[in-house]
Amino acid sequence: MQLYQLIYKSDASAALDIKLLNQFKRQIQESNYRKEVTGLLLFDGVHFLQVLEGRKTQLKRLYDAICNDPRHANVTLLLMEPIPAREFDQTSMQIVIRKAEDLTRIIDEVETLGELLRVGDGGETSSVILSNYYHMKEGLGRSPNIVKSFLEGGWETTNYSGMTQDEKQWIQLSCSKSELSQEYPYWFAFQPIVDTEKGVISAVEALLRGKEGQSPDELLNGLSETQMHKLDVESKRSAIAIFAEFGCDTTLSINLLPKSLISYPEIVGELRRLAESLSIEPSRITIEVTEQEAIENYDSFIDVVNQIRANGMRLAIDDFGAGYAGMSLLADFQPHKLKIDKKIVDGIASDGPRQAIVCAIMQFSFRLGIEVVAEGIETLQDLEWLKSVGVKHFQGYFFAKPGLMHIPQVNI
Ligand code: C2E
Ligand code: MN
Ligand code: MN
Repeated sequence: MQLYQLIYKSDASAALDIKLLNQFKRQIQESNYRKEVTGLLLFDGVHFLQVLEGRKTQLKRLYDAICNDPRHANVTLLLMEPIPAREFDQTSMQIVIRKAEDLTRIIDEVETLGELLRVGDGGETSSVILSNYYHMKEGLGRSPNIVKSFLEGGWETTNYSGMTQDEKQWIQLSCSKSELSQEYPYWFAFQPIVDTEKGVISAVEALLRGKEGQSPDELLNGLSETQMHKLDVESKRSAIAIFAEFGCDTTLSINLLPKSLISYPEIVGELRRLAESLSIEPSRITIEVTEQEAIENYDSFIDVVNQIRANGMRLAIDDFGAGYAGMSLLADFQPHKLKIDKKIVDGIASDGPRQAIVCAIMQFSFRLGIEVVAEGIETLQDLEWLKSVGVKHFQGYFFAKPGLMHIPQVNI
């Protein structure tokens, strides 16, 4: 039988009193004994962290039940991995309460506190249990480190509480295709990027489309490299001119392959002059390049970056987290914006590793003055979690799908 370990964290959905906690403890001890599930349950007065080990199917079933248990809120999976042997020999569930000082914040009555501690540590003090635990687990997997991080407050960086979205007075922008003054050689769909703090559309991204609605992939993939770069570069004149017709004061994001910029070094200056002639300041144009392409052509890429900066335009790293060595790229140069890829954002409200990654991105972006945009937002839960760690700029179907040759309305 292959053993698995599962670690999750959750918030107690209501203040747990002593009776409930006792009941809770008995329940899980009994049922886990039957299922041959061992582990550790930590409760710090607000949050739970539970390590479970046993058969994969049992753990999965148990985890599903916990997700649907009204006593747990914001259940987040931190780890689910095969392990060579049990880390907890006793077929029971240890319950450890963090620190007495912490509990006084939550529970005023001294009497209740004493009782709670007795429930928690079964006679010993919780710190003894924990130091034994660490002693025993030294050199094992990641679970002791995760437990330690929990006890030291490492998972308290967020104040996500599953709230509902505030009513915002969105400043609406929209302009339909029929109002455009001329026929353009290249078509684009425009997708809003919203600033939820200010309640405005802060930017729109121009996404290449065929006149029969083809996707960028369909349009670019069949072409030779030379043709592709030519189309990439030439189409951006249309993107800027169409955007200018909308007459809105947001910024415009355009996608360009670094290789297109390298093949047509004069394009950056040309696009700047075009924008200026249409009363768009260069600082309102952001050029998005994907992480992967940037890394593949590192030296030439740095030249392109300098050209963009010299022309007063902005640069965004697109699809951050989907590609390769994003960190080494960032160590050497910092873009104006960082767009976190949909693969990182999707399901983040209940995904521990993704949450930890986004917290790290937020921390370094804050220090380095980089604006973070989360892409591909489809659910309110993910949106609210991201807001709780300070993300302010969002793009995704939750707000608006790209609108062909117009800026669509934002859903609120
Ligand atoms: P991207 O720049 O990351 O653009 C975002 C893509 O995600 C768009 O797909 C958009 O429609 C889609 N998207 C936005 N929100 C959501 C969401 O909530 N859920 C889901 N499932 N998808 C969402 P699209 O338009 O098919 O573009 C795909 C990629 O093609 C773009 O990714 C960009 O890398 C590239 N691209 C677009 N326009 C151009 C262009 O003019 N030149 C070049 N070189 N590449 C372009
Ligand atoms: Mn993009
Ligand atoms: Mn992207």
